[in-house]
Amino acid sequence: MADIKNPSNEQKRYVAAVCPEFESYVALAMRDSSVENEVSCDECIHWDDGRCDIFDDILTSIDQT
Ligand code: SF4
Repeated sequence: MADIKNPSNEQKRYVAAVCPEFESYVALAMRDSSVENEVSCDECIHWDDGRCDIFDDILTSIDQT
């Protein structure tokens, strides 16, 4: 579970929804926090071209619940 190379859009939405580090550059750019209903790692400032240090940890913790 520690090597997730191609997370699905669904996984990125799950993770972003619970991630304590999620910060949307979309919301920042618009200065508007109403962009909440569908978050994804794709719009997170920490998402580094398909990778994030804590993505695997969060996805794993979700899977365990
Ligand atoms: S990209 Fe990283 S910090 Fe951002 S929501 Fe996803 S797991 Fe969290």
